[in-house]
This record gives sequence, C-alpha cells and structure tokens, in this order.
Amino acid sequence: MERSVTVVGGGVIGLFIARAAATAGWSVTLHDPVFGNRTVGDGAASWVAGGMLAPLSEGWPGEHDLLSLGAESLRRWHDIDPGPGVVTSTGSVTVAFDAADAADLRTAADWVRAQGHDLTMLSRSDVRGLEPAVSPRVRAGVSAPAEMAVDNRAVVAFLEAEILAAGVRVSREPVTDLGAVTTERIVVAAGWAAASLVPGLPVRPVKGEILRLRARSGSAAAPTRTIRASVNGRAVYLVPRGDGLVVGATQYEHGNDTAVTVGGVRDLLADAEAVFPAIGDYELAEAAAGLRPGSPDNIPIIGSVDDRVVVAAGHGRNGVLLAPVTADAVVAELDGAPLAAARCALPQRFSMTVGAQS
Ligand SMILES: Cc1cc2nc3c(=O)[nH]c(=O)nc-3n(C[C@H](O)[C@H](O)[C@H](O)COP(=O)(O)OP(=O)(O)OC[C@H]3O[C@@H](n4cnc5c(N)ncnc54)[C@H](O)[C@@H]3O)c2cc1C
Repeated sequence: MERSVTVVGGGVIGLFIARAAATAGWSVTLHDPVFGNRTVGDGAASWVAGGMLAPLSEGWPGEHDLLSLGAESLRRWHDIDPGPGVVTSTGSVTVAFDAADAADLRTAADWVRAQGHDLTMLSRSDVRGLEPAVSPRVRAGVSAPAEMAVDNRAVVAFLEAEILAAGVRVSREPVTDLGAVTTERIVVAAGWAAASLVPGLPVRPVKGEILRLRARSGSAAAPTRTIRASVNGRAVYLVPRGDGLVVGATQYEHGNDTAVTVGGVRDLLADAEAVFPAIGDYELAEAAAGLRPGSPDNIPIIGSVDDRVVVAAGHGRNGVLLAPVTADAVVAELDGAPLAAARCALPQRFSMTVGAQS
C-alpha cells in the first residue's frame, strides 16, 4: 500500500504535520474548509493567537513535562527560517508589581534555571533599562532571552505556501467520518473539534479573547520584547508586532462561544495599560476570540489511538510553540519509531477508552 496519510485540520498543528510528513516522503492530503481563507469568526485558535513561544517564562515547579516539551519545540523554532516578518521579537520579560508576585517570579525562575534553562532575575531599574516603555511601578522582573514571538498569521501563510510547494493535496471538504477516508493513515489535528471525530478524546474548547493594537503616528514606542505580567490577579501579555502590539488573553470555559465581550476587552485594556502606560494612543484595530483546544492536564495529546489513526490535539494555550515538536512526534509515530521527547503526550495516559471511527 502507498505510504499515504490524510491530515484532518489545517491550523498550525495540521500544517506543520503535513509539511513534515511530505518532507519524510509521505503522500499527504490535508482537509480544512478554511484553508487559505481564514477569518477571525472561524474560531480557529491559530488565526487569533498571540504567537508567544514562551515555555520558560510559563515554567512552574512540578510542571516538568510541559517545560521540557516546550523547550524541545522552542529549540526547533530557532532552526526554522520562516522568512521576513514572521519572527516579531526575541526575548521576553515577565514583570511583577508587588512583593507577592515578585516572590512567585523568583520561585518559578529558580526552578526553571535548575532544569538547565537561562533566565535572569531583574531589578526595577534592570527592567526599565531593557524596556523603557514599561511602567515605572514594576518592582522586579525575569528575562528569558531565548524566547521568541512570531506573527501567527504569517506562520499560517508561510506553512500553507510550503505545503503546496511540497506537493500536499488540499481539500476544503471537512472530514466528518474517518471511516470514509481512503488513505493508509489518518492524523486528526482538528483543534478543539478533534473530539467530534475521535470518541472519548478529552479535548474541549477554551475561549480566549485577544486584541490587536496598531501604533499611530506619534504613538510612544512599544516594548521590543514580549512583556508578561499579572495585574489585578489576571495574566496579561503584550506581544510586539511590526505595526503595534497584540494584547492577550482572557480564558473562559464557555463551550464554543466566540463572542467578544465588553468585559473581556475592558480588562485586557486596563491590564495592558498598567504595564505600558502610553497604550491609550494606539488604535484598537481588532478584538477577536478563539477556541484553544484544551486537555485535562494542559499537555497535548499526540499518538496513535488505533492501527490507523494518530491524534495531535489538545495543545491548549501553547499550540504555536508546540507545533514543530508535535510534527516530529507525529511523523515518528507514522514511521513506527515514537519520539521519546513526546512520550508525556501519549493518549494512553488517560484512563478513558479513546477510539476512532475508522
Ligand atoms: C486568544 C488565544 C491566544 C493564544 N496565544 C498563544 C500564544 O501566544 N502562543 C502559543 O503557542 N499558542 C497560543 N494560543 C494557542 C494556540 O493558538 C493553539 O494551541 C493552536 O493554534 C492550536 O492549533 P490547532 O491547529 O490544533 O487548532 P486550530 O487552530 O483551532 O485549527 C484547527 C483547524 O481544524 C479545522 N477543522 C476542524 N474540524 C475539521 C474537520 N472536521 N475537517 C477538516 N478540518 C477541520 C478548522 O477549520 C481549523 O482550521 C492561543 C490561543 C488563543 C485562543
């Protein structure tokens, strides 16, 4: 039988997988109804995401598997040349506004450093020296110079062009029945919708709202690194883009609702202004909501669920970061030699019976 595989879903996960499988010699067909024609209303997470590649500044004692999987993928991102305009910044700084947050930063940084990663504690003047646009009210910070941010929409465009050039066949027909797919293998990479194709798969939609702000003539210069903070008990981040900033993100369990709420926009703007006081002069260019594919333990679900079907879903708030290592893990699985670095993501860690329709 021909080495053929169908990839269901063309978000960052499916696109990276299709590209890697084609490079590895598989004959690949990718299905996605919004391929080449995405809008914020689709709800697909890859189109609305912030684009942070930030496993180190999200590290927390005990979350070893997530840190090591993220660090593996960040290493792969550094080896990818996605062309001009895709990488929008290098380095990130997490800031604290009070003593309790500063203590948490130190706890997390000490643990991440103990796992062998490069993080540096910063004083208030260090933070202001690196990023003068950040509020003088900050108390301390942590710098992660190896982290990056990418323009997620440019990543999608780059990957769509790459897979077409690699000979991947693209269909805009959605897949509704895995049993009707004729290729030798199937990869389900349909984001939060993967659960409707693989019964028992514990993936659910987790809503996130996010803003795109555009600098106007005379606007104060934005930070040049990704800035993360906790303000009023809520996490907020500001990610540099060529023309301004992305401010994210809220997080709710609201099923597959993608309405942008007044309260969500209000909180994001208030929290972002606490970090970058000159933000008020920026244009509010877009407010959008997307659906993260959530898993029960915040680690993605990557691996075979039967002889034919491989799942790659549940990447939660880190799917852009984790796409390269996911692609390598899926191709290794298809080739029968699973990737050791992705063992923590195997579907079999969940006790429920996961079975596909094929
Ligand atoms: C507000 C927000 C901010 C985020 N910020 C970051 C960030 O800074 N860094 C980061 O790493 N991650 C971030 N994420 C998370 C990241 O966006 C997701 O983890 C990632 O995009 C998931 O990719 P995916 O390809 O699995 O899913 P999706 O992007 O949702 O794509 C799934 C695709 O499958 C298609 N599809 C669905 N059903 C079918 C079917 N039956 N047949 C064919 N196709 C189908 C859909 O049309 C869609 O295109 C953020 C997410 C949100 C919502």
